[in-house]
Amino acid sequence: MRDPFGREITYLRISVTDRCDLRCVYCMAEEMTFLPKADLLTLEELERVASAFIRLGVRKIRLTGGEPLVRRNVMSLVRALGARIGPGGLAELTLTTNGTQLARYAEELFAAGVRRINVSLDTLDPDRFAAITRWGKLEKTLEGIFAAKAAGLAIKINAVALKGTNEDEFDRLIAWCGEHGFDLCLIETMPMGEIDQDRTDQYLPLSLVRARLARTWTLVDTDYRTGGPARYVVVKETGRRLGFITPMTHNFCESCNRVRLTCTGTLYMCLGQDDAADLRTPLRASRDDAVLEAAILEAIGRKPRGHDFVIDRRRNRPAVARHMSLTGG
Ligand code: SAM
Ligand code: SF4
Repeated sequence: MRDPFGREITYLRISVTDRCDLRCVYCMAEEMTFLPKADLLTLEELERVASAFIRLGVRKIRLTGGEPLVRRNVMSLVRALGARIGPGGLAELTLTTNGTQLARYAEELFAAGVRRINVSLDTLDPDRFAAITRWGKLEKTLEGIFAAKAAGLAIKINAVALKGTNEDEFDRLIAWCGEHGFDLCLIETMPMGEIDQDRTDQYLPLSLVRARLARTWTLVDTDYRTGGPARYVVVKETGRRLGFITPMTHNFCESCNRVRLTCTGTLYMCLGQDDAADLRTPLRASRDDAVLEAAILEAIGRKPRGHDFVIDRRRNRPAVARHMSLTGG
């Protein structure tokens, strides 16, 4: 599957639910209206769409959300997709999670074929954690992370860099990740969806963070890439990777290999654009997957060259109206 700019599309992210057991301040408003349950694709339908993508050349699937592990019975989808790992099928099945349910699911994830997960953790301070997630308890997420480690899953910690909130903590996070054998990725805030706060207050450019970190740590450039927006260095003192995801200050679109499917069957060809394709209608129109595959190929033919995120100071409106929890980042 190639898009009009010659990029091969091999990576599908599936947001299996827009619901979540937390309310991170940069991601959601406290009061959220979620999608009506009747609009959701069933887990079997999600598997059917995923299978069509695999036939068309997708080699990596990441499950995300909302919080993927709060969708009822989500492990049946994980097991079904895990069974597709192998030659001619998936090279990798991964998951992005807030960690609250990992203590329960870590071993099952490993048994299903998952080998790496991303866990979001913005702070190691319990009070800050509660303030950022509104409803969360640090202890529960840490318990999940260590259960995942014990189950044999490789872990990358994702931390959103928030001005005035966790910006004094990155040294501690780097040291902690080094100690436990985790990679770390710092993420710049993206203007997606209405939240209850002013985003220009949260925005912290990672170029600044990196310059500050370089005073304490030896950051060695690498050409390690995952096809995603992260640029990685190795922290010489810990031996672990440190990634910077900078959609606001750096253009990463030229190597984009991914598309995003929501839990209602809408395919977004770019995280930062509103253009989308409805796959639910072709999916339900026929039991023959040819209709679905044609719809997927048509959508890939419309993948835009890139995004144009702006945190608009004058209007203070998000550049993209939908919340990150719909497409899963
Ligand atoms: N609930 C899971 C979690 O938190 O990892 C998966 C979904 S969450 C939407 C995926 C990632 O997007 C998380 O690492 C989260 O921190 C990040 N995220 C959410 N809103 C964001 C925003 N406005 N800007 C940048 N990253 C954001
Ligand atoms: Fe939930 Fe993840 Fe969004 Fe936090 S970032 S509110 S955990 S979906």
